[in-house]
Amino acid sequence: MSVNWDEVGQEAATLLSGYLKTRTVNPPGNERLAADYLMALLQAKGFEGTLWEPSSGRANLTARLKGEASRGGIILLHHMDVVAAEPERWTVDPFGGEIRDGFVWGRGALDMKGAGIMHLLAMDLLRREGLPLSRDVILLAVSDEEVDSSQGTSWLLREKSEILQAEYVWDEGGFGLDGMFGPGVVFTVAVAEKGCLWLRLVVEGEPGHGGVPQAGNPVELLVAALERLRRHRWPPILHPVVRDMLQQVSTTMPAPKNWLLRNLDRQPVWHMARGALVGQPALKAMLQTTVSITGLKGGVKENVIPERAEATLDVRLLPGQEEEPFLAELKRVLREPCLRIGVIQHPAPGTVTPYAGDAMYEALRSVCPRIVPGSRVAPLLTVGTTDSSHFRAHGFKTYGLYPAVIPPEELGRFHGIDERISVANLALGTRLVYEVLRQVCTR
Ligand SMILES: [Zn+2]
Repeated sequence: MSVNWDEVGQEAATLLSGYLKTRTVNPPGNERLAADYLMALLQAKGFEGTLWEPSSGRANLTARLKGEASRGGIILLHHMDVVAAEPERWTVDPFGGEIRDGFVWGRGALDMKGAGIMHLLAMDLLRREGLPLSRDVILLAVSDEEVDSSQGTSWLLREKSEILQAEYVWDEGGFGLDGMFGPGVVFTVAVAEKGCLWLRLVVEGEPGHGGVPQAGNPVELLVAALERLRRHRWPPILHPVVRDMLQQVSTTMPAPKNWLLRNLDRQPVWHMARGALVGQPALKAMLQTTVSITGLKGGVKENVIPERAEATLDVRLLPGQEEEPFLAELKRVLREPCLRIGVIQHPAPGTVTPYAGDAMYEALRSVCPRIVPGSRVAPLLTVGTTDSSHFRAHGFKTYGLYPAVIPPEELGRFHGIDERISVANLALGTRLVYEVLRQVCTR
């Protein structure tokens, strides 16, 4: 089927502009507004959408392009909620859906309403083409990704698992990154996520008068323990996904860097290179456990030694790293007998979607260079948390790729100021999704 991709880009821009006008800042979310908008678009294209409302104003939506179901389906996943925006810091109205200078501007343009429009248009192209499909394609728009997924993915997997029968989930995660690893574009595809462990550290002791310093002051004991934690260096670990990623991105780099990155498997090379690798913040988070002190509380009055002080930690574990051994090591690092460690949130099981030789991953590897000549695909370990972790924990093969080519300087617009997506990227992303679906669903 011959497709005029410029026209597709224009249509995507118009549809996205309307979508960005639905205010779905979470909290409170109000994703029903977005779901109603999508439902109208789907119906206009001849799809039957189904909508669930887990609570008032919160909604989840699916629409299905039926295949013969001889193979497992593919879920095209996006979230309808967005993070807040401070209009006074933007050059456009974040909820105005403005189209200007070849871009659609607004909160959610990248994260993640733009992808939702690409999914819808790609699915429609596939329907219009009328080829027999071996798999169902399921558009899934969810609530609540930006808070805790309790009204979205978690709710659906618990209450409506029968509608989510599929082999694959295509979510956000990586991007087509232009010029980040030497010349050319690398499409990073998330296949694993770090586990998110939230802890509360509590020290309790004897209260007293601030004028009479005492050894058991809980605030001082906690601060000293935190300082030991801050100074601790967690050992770098080369996770297989990160090893494969570095091998892939090294090919356009100059020597000897490319050789080093290709040979990190060799112990002497790893020992030589790991210091420089963890020196880069983005890589460091992929190569080790990270711990951020994210809260500190204690004290009731200036002249009173309080009986309790506490801190919160945001710990990110590499896939495969277990919670118990980490906690034992943390205790050893903190070295404070009066300190108790409580778990606020356990990490989801850190599973990895197998990618080498997988039909969908291979489709991405063959389609991406066709659409962006010279581009490559590399697996990615995501250091943040997305809905993918829930799907992986339920056994879905889950790939995270936002189908667009983004120069590194545009990445700050995610959750940032003047978020936007180019009309050219809307066309490119729709084409990428369409061609991957076509390849995976017609054989
Ligand atoms: Zn997102």
